[in-house]
This record gives sequence, C-alpha cells and structure tokens, in this order.
Amino acid sequence: MKKISHFIDGKIYSDDKSRLGPIFNPAIGEEIAKVELASKTTVEMAIENSAKAFQKWSKTTPINRARILAKFKDLLIKNMDDLAVMVSEQHGKTIPDAKGSIQRGIEVVEYATGITDSLKGDHSANVGTNVDSHTLRQPLGVCAGITPFNFPAMVPMWMFPVAIACGNTFVLKPSEKDPSCPMKLAELAIQAGLPPGVLNCVNGDKEAVDTLLESKTVQAISFVGSTPIAEYVYHTGTKNNKRVQALGGAKNHMIIMPDADIDKTTDALIGSAFGSAGERCMAISVAVCVGKKTNEKIKTKLLKEASKLNVGPYTDEKSDFGPLNNQAHFKKVLGYIDTGEKEGAKLLADGRKFKKQGYENGYFVGPTIFNDVKPDMKIYKEEIFGPVLSMMTTETYEDALKLVNDHELGNGAAVFTKSGNIAKHFTENAKIGMIGVNVPIPVPVAYHSFGGWKRSLFGDHSMHGPEGVRFYTKLKTATVTWVEDNAGPEFTIPVLS
Ligand code: NAD
Repeated sequence: MKKISHFIDGKIYSDDKSRLGPIFNPAIGEEIAKVELASKTTVEMAIENSAKAFQKWSKTTPINRARILAKFKDLLIKNMDDLAVMVSEQHGKTIPDAKGSIQRGIEVVEYATGITDSLKGDHSANVGTNVDSHTLRQPLGVCAGITPFNFPAMVPMWMFPVAIACGNTFVLKPSEKDPSCPMKLAELAIQAGLPPGVLNCVNGDKEAVDTLLESKTVQAISFVGSTPIAEYVYHTGTKNNKRVQALGGAKNHMIIMPDADIDKTTDALIGSAFGSAGERCMAISVAVCVGKKTNEKIKTKLLKEASKLNVGPYTDEKSDFGPLNNQAHFKKVLGYIDTGEKEGAKLLADGRKFKKQGYENGYFVGPTIFNDVKPDMKIYKEEIFGPVLSMMTTETYEDALKLVNDHELGNGAAVFTKSGNIAKHFTENAKIGMIGVNVPIPVPVAYHSFGGWKRSLFGDHSMHGPEGVRFYTKLKTATVTWVEDNAGPEFTIPVLS
C-alpha cells in the first residue's frame, strides 16, 4: 500500500519506525494509503532544518523571494489537474470544486509575489531638527502551520506563501486525512527554486502539533481547524511565548429579508449550504427568514431545487457534491440529524436515507433541511459541518440580527435584501468577521484578509492580505540623525523638535 512520509530539507524523508495512520477514499469508504505520523524527533529535525535555512533565506532580497514564488505559481497552474485529483480522491469534493479551492490558493501566491510593496516601511523626515524616522518589517524566524482536512490545498496556501515571502521559513503540518496535496505543494515549491528547508512538510497528529507548540525555535503558529483545537493551540502556543493566529469553526447565518429575490436567494442558499457537502467554514448552515411568508416561499423553492441535486463521487462529472471526508465525521453528522429530529425541529429533507448505487460504503449524506429550528437546539448551537441546513423564522430584521450576534461563533454571515439601509446596518452591526451582502460565501480575496470574530478566531490577526504580512513580520522603528555636533549628554526625556 502507498505510504506518504514527510518532506524535509528539499526531499522526501521517511522514518521506518513511525506510527502510521490510514488515508481513505471517502467515496468508496476504503483505505487507499498510509501516512507516517511524525514523532517528536522527526518534527524537531524539520524545525532545526528550517532554522538553518532561515539564516540565508531571511537575507535573500524580497524581490528574489518574490521571483521564486512567481515560478511556484506557474508550476501550480501547470499541475492543477493532478493537484485537483489528489484533493478530490482524499477529501471527496468534486474536481471543479477542488480546482476552485486551488485557484484561491494560487491567488494568495500571486499576492505574495507583490511582497516588495507590502514590506515597504513608513518614513518621516524631520521628526526633529535633522532627525528622521523610518520603520522596517522583519521576519520572525521559523513559523509553523497546522491545517484542517477540508481544504488541503487552499488553507496551507493561506499561510506559507505570505510567511516565506516575508523572509520566514515554514514547517507545515497538514491534516493527516488528506496529506498528498500539501506534500506535492512543498515539492513544487522546491522545484520552483525555493532553497531546501524554507518549506518543510511534516505529517502527523497531536504529537507533531504539540512538538511545534512547545518548540523554543518556532516563533509563530498559524492554525485552522475546529474551535476546541483552535482554543487549545492558541493557549498552548501563547503560553510558550509564540505569536498565534488560530481560526476555528463556524455557524454562518443568511438573513433573508422579505424583499429578497426568491430565485437568486434560493440558488445562493443551495450552493452555499450543500457545496462541498457543507464541509466549508464559510458554508451557510442557518437560513433566517424574516417573516413567515418569506420562510414559506424559500422553503417551497428550496425543497424543489434540493431534490434535483446529484450527490456522487468526484469521478462522476455530474456530481454537485461528494461524500463527507471520513467515517467518524459521517457518523457525527448522521447523529446531528437524529438529534435535530429528537429536539423537535421539522425535518423537511432527510439525507440519512441517501445511498449511491455502486458506492454503498461511501460516506454520502444527501441534502438535509430542518425547519422551525430554535436557538436552544443543539443543531443550532453547534457546528455540524455537513450538508445540513437549519431554517428559522423571525418576525423582524432586528430579531434576526440578534440571533447572529448572540451565536458564539462569528466567522461569516450574509444578508439578502434589496434595501441599502438594511445592508449597511447589517454590515456595521453584525458581530461577524466576514460579511456578504447578497453574496452567500463572502470569502475575502487574497489581498484582503480572512478571519472571523468571537470563537471563530483566537488571536489578533486574520490570514493572508495585509493582516498576514503583519502577522509574519515584526515591526522595528529607527530614529536617525547624521549631525556631527556633540550637544553633550541629555538627562531628560528628549523632545524632538
Ligand atoms: P481539527 O481541529 O480536528 O484538526 C485541525 C488540525 O489540528 C489537524 O492538522 C489535526 O491533525 C490537528 N489536531 C486534531 N486534534 C488535535 C489535538 N487534540 N491536539 C493537537 N492537534 C490536533 O479540524 P478538522 O476536522 O481537520 O477540520 C474541520 C474544522 O476546521 C471545522 O470545524 C471547520 O469549521 C474548521 N475550519 C475553519 C476554517 C476557518 O477559516 N475558520 C477554515 C477551514 C476549516
């Protein structure tokens, strides 16, 4: 059986004694490969190797770092088909969806090729007589990234292109569920001319993560995954004096106002609730209809459209979405549907019954829709991360906004309306990191930054864009004079004027 190891110092590194984890093809529910789960020793070796590479890489000029990233971008485009198959085979999403996610990663690489501009400091002439001041943004050292199973290409590329463009070196610890694509990314970066050790990739589980969190060499940790692990990573990393950005789970609401276009809104809802089997941190999982009539209209259209969806393997071009990623998660999502029924939510469409002929062991769940969901229900409070949509109704926009703001998660939220006033009010008053106005999945482009609020992000910086550059650099301010006259020692705090 195929075995996936690690990528350290510009080459594959294997540890024969290491523990192994299974990799499944979720469409058939069968193990297709094994992945090495790195020991503390292997991770420490990768960190030391990256620390060594930092000495030279941090002194490489930004323009030369950018040139390598430009070549990396070309290689990503050239290898798009292979990368997409790796993502789809191990994650389960369709090929067009996998390609879309790789493209969003490529856009971050493109952003990082403009690093010379992002690293420009501020300069103030004559802050005092014959005294100037300027700022520098300098790299931190070895940074690490820990990523989830749902975007094995895009999420690693939210992190390492910006980190290395800023002059850091990087140890990536991707999800152990679908590691082939991240390993290929590291290989392609070296092919593009990145010196060995600037980007290392170690596969593993908690042991690998804890080694990164406790290392004295690692300066910063970028994490994306579930909220409990994000919180753990944040607290453990900061306790070990690291800079940490830890992005967690989501429960994204779409508020549907009575004036919203029903056809457009339903299409947006279908794509954002069920695309990628709901395994997106920006999936809409709650539709809040303002007014009973709005609920009635959306419900009727939604049920009609949802019944037309094709659920199937990535190898079938007609599939709109694929299986859930793994058996444990599949069982968890089925469990949430059972819970919703027991809690008294009205099950309008039941994905538990879905079976794909020829793929009976695959982790497929059909589109599932609950109506009359209440705020105290578990299916409302917790992230399900599957093709399960909860519908709710409020009498007013204010009640709908209150739901959004009272929820403990605050990644994304959307409002569908024709009213500029409502759109402006929602944008300004929703306690949410990423807002969509008539846009269901408001993922910021690479030159803006991605991140939620509340328990969807622990730390102060979002990912990529200007916030990414701030996260991966330290600010230094220099005050400079070249006047040769010696005015003698000064014992009061100097006032420059
Ligand atoms: P996860 O939290 O289980 O795993 C994420 C990473 O943490 C993996 O690399 C995993 O190996 C590691 N990990 C798991 N358990 C650990 C432990 N006990 N100690 C240390 N490390 C551990 O998340 P997942 O199931 O891979 O991904 C799905 C989750 O990611 C969802 O909650 C989703 O909302 C979230 N997500 C969030 C965003 C965002 O931008 N906010 C983006 C994508 C996914």
